[in-house]
Amino acid sequence: MPKRDDYDAVVVGGGPNGLAAAITLGRRFQSVLLLEAAKTIGGGVRSKALTLPGFVHDVCSAVQPLSLASPFFRQLDLPQYGLEWIQPEIPLAHPFEDGSALFLHRSLEVTSEAMGADGRAYKRLLQPFVDHEQKLLADLLRPLHFPGNPLLMARFAFHALRSLRNIAETRFQSDRTRTLFAGLAAHAMIPLEQSATAAFAIILAALAHAVGWPIIKGGSQKLADALADCFQSNGGEIITGQPIASASDLPKAAVYFFDVTPRQLVNIKGLGLTDGYCKRLARFRYGPGVCKVDWALKEPIPWKADVCRKAGTVHLGDSLGEIAASIREVRAGNVSSSPYIILAQQSLIDPSRAPAGRHTAWAYCHVPHGSAADMSALIENKIERYAPGFREVILAKSVLSAAAMEQYNPNYVGGDISGGLQDLSQMYTRPVASLNPYRTSAKNIYLCSSSTPPGGGVHGLCGYHAAQSACNGKGIKAF
Ligand SMILES: Cc1cc2nc3c(=O)[nH]c(=O)nc-3n(C[C@H](O)[C@H](O)[C@H](O)COP(=O)(O)OP(=O)(O)OC[C@H]3O[C@@H](n4cnc5c(N)ncnc54)[C@H](O)[C@@H]3O)c2cc1C
Repeated sequence: MPKRDDYDAVVVGGGPNGLAAAITLGRRFQSVLLLEAAKTIGGGVRSKALTLPGFVHDVCSAVQPLSLASPFFRQLDLPQYGLEWIQPEIPLAHPFEDGSALFLHRSLEVTSEAMGADGRAYKRLLQPFVDHEQKLLADLLRPLHFPGNPLLMARFAFHALRSLRNIAETRFQSDRTRTLFAGLAAHAMIPLEQSATAAFAIILAALAHAVGWPIIKGGSQKLADALADCFQSNGGEIITGQPIASASDLPKAAVYFFDVTPRQLVNIKGLGLTDGYCKRLARFRYGPGVCKVDWALKEPIPWKADVCRKAGTVHLGDSLGEIAASIREVRAGNVSSSPYIILAQQSLIDPSRAPAGRHTAWAYCHVPHGSAADMSALIENKIERYAPGFREVILAKSVLSAAAMEQYNPNYVGGDISGGLQDLSQMYTRPVASLNPYRTSAKNIYLCSSSTPPGGGVHGLCGYHAAQSACNGKGIKAF
């Protein structure tokens, strides 16, 4: 039961963006309430014993460069609430079937040296963005605006607006470097021939060198817990197990924030949104889904390439062509027979994730929107090619299809983990093209989920900017 009859602000949904909005509002207002449908807060930052007792798995997000780099989270001093980021020595390895691998090391120098002939081109591309990562993110991770660092942004746009295939094939000579770059861009699930897919590869690579690709000690849930502690220590109130289906489920408040996607917002009854606005929201496009697998392992994955044994994240895709084809197939509504795989091995650097000597692994591949396909056999077959004997070290596994992903968290519509397609035309016009994309047609209702700029990922900035836009000029500290 809410403690009051009337609040300054109510936030619906306790994912990283809902929590970030609540914290921002709590700095300005006296009474802020956060209502979460599930039994625990966190949304995409939860951890659970999904397989066997004693094994801690990240249900959704696992690899957290955006949380460490987030200009908003940086303001909060989250380590004082018990949060610890742990860095693998190698943020990313990309193995090949012959037992070799390319990798991103924390050091740009070491990485480019290992790339051989392509090292110079890689370093020249990345160096300015690694050197000015904070300035770059301050401009990129917010709604459209005149950039604070126009020269840096012009340089970024020159490269980033190209398609991944174009930049990889013109800048790099080796198929292996092109493959590594394709694996980075493939996180966005957008065909690699489309404009601006290079942006994802450049940002993820720059983050690997500038801040690393850390995981959260004890599980991603600890990030949600730290954000909740930060909010509550400032007087905020949280109620879990409170799904909001209608305005009548809400206590009275001056302003409401919804950490939900457009389709869910439209389905909440009695919010007073105009028909015109609902029609615009109905045109919002969702992307493909993911099928996710977690394993409890007897021992670490027996990779052929040694560098994979030190990597927090491993990408599996034989070539740029194969990765591109798997994205195209999924877009066409088919399950790929050789899916591109993103895999994390948290227990290698965080022993608290598994009983002594045991290990965990986390992986997903892209599937058509809403697919109920269990891809675990295909994923395991593919891992076997780079790590023969993988199947023998599996003690137990848990599979979440794209359809099950949406049941687990209604924000993952059809299993889309980015809160809606994040292509060039919907990158900054999410959920609709507007000077204030967070504001809805109802005066006191705001959207604050990853369906608003700057989109998917654990950075809390959709929540922060939404709250900031509502309180504009009323004393909320900007970064
Ligand atoms: C398998 C998977 C892997 C991922 N990997 C990464 C990764 O490694 N790194 C990364 O940065 N990002 C990753 N992501 C993406 C990241 O988790 C999301 O972008 C992020 O969680 C979005 O935050 P959010 O607050 O907008 O929404 P969510 O985190 O989805 O939170 C929304 C919350 O609102 C609640 N809610 C919804 N409707 C209602 C309602 N009507 N009433 C009350 N509560 C409601 C939900 O229960 C949920 O708790 C991954 C996601 C998935 C699913």
